[in-house]
Amino acid sequence: MLKTALITDRHYLDHFPGRGHPECPERVKVLLDMAAGLHRERLERIAPREATIAELELCHDPRYVALMRQTAARESYDFDPDTHASRATYHTSILAAGGFLTAVEAVLGGQADNGFAIVRPPGHHALPDHAMGFCFFNNVAIAARYLTHVKGMDRVMIVDWDVHHGNGTQDIFYASPRVLYCSLHQFPHYPGSGSVREIGIDEGRGYTVNLPLPATFGDREYLSAFDRVILPVGRQFRPDFLLVSAGFDCHFRDPLADMRVTEQGFAAMARRLKRLAAECCGGRMALVLEGGYDLQALASSVREVVEELGRDAAEPLAPGAPDREAWLLEKVMKELSPFWNF
Ligand SMILES: [Zn+2]
Repeated sequence: MLKTALITDRHYLDHFPGRGHPECPERVKVLLDMAAGLHRERLERIAPREATIAELELCHDPRYVALMRQTAARESYDFDPDTHASRATYHTSILAAGGFLTAVEAVLGGQADNGFAIVRPPGHHALPDHAMGFCFFNNVAIAARYLTHVKGMDRVMIVDWDVHHGNGTQDIFYASPRVLYCSLHQFPHYPGSGSVREIGIDEGRGYTVNLPLPATFGDREYLSAFDRVILPVGRQFRPDFLLVSAGFDCHFRDPLADMRVTEQGFAAMARRLKRLAAECCGGRMALVLEGGYDLQALASSVREVVEELGRDAAEPLAPGAPDREAWLLEKVMKELSPFWNF
């Protein structure tokens, strides 16, 4: 039995992006209610800390961090038509970035085997100098840089299964061979990036892996992508820590996208990553909430993943036979074959 650090807090309800906005406080409300009913003995519930300015600046331009701080004194500030900061946004955002650092620290410190930070606002669209796509600070990228720059780790792997491409995370690590970024996302779809050809630049070539999936792909196709591409690359990269941008908007009920992943599919993806982490880095792994906009699907999916994180890592994996995704995976493998063996 594994112990999971669960980080969440009522302060994650404070950021209010506007009436009728899908990235609403109720997302965390339903997860707080769900988490209250989880098995207590498997969970280490830890309150989030705030990220420091220096930690935010691991990934963000100091002028942008200063601008974000100033939004706390304004009624509202619009970064794009979907991304509005209000008075509480800065504080909620530093608590989101810090909440994921809390999960990572709990794993590093041995308080838990793995961790899940249930935070908002999400982060993977946030750029070094700009908020976009409901995101203000890039929570997963800050944690990756924290591991390499503060904790001295050589290699960090990020797997992003949110239905949208994590353009911010890709951008931050595009030239880095120390952070391997793998994204599965609906394509074409918001924000438009994430094609097979985007594989990194300079020293970072081969360390960005994009799986642009057509609409209607579901559990079997996602798991096949894990088995044929993500796990083989991960085993060769041998991360010191595995981070997951866990978005639940590829669920079949989600109103913002058209994929067909189920609760069991999310658990199976988590199981594969848990096994990869067990093989490469003593199981060190932490997930952070990104998207997921159907409240019922979000609660039931996060529950399945948290339950999975507590199970013994040695359970067998269900095989995924390639079928209608084979052409796409072949294309991805061909593009990456100078860098990785498949
Ligand atoms: Zn998303």
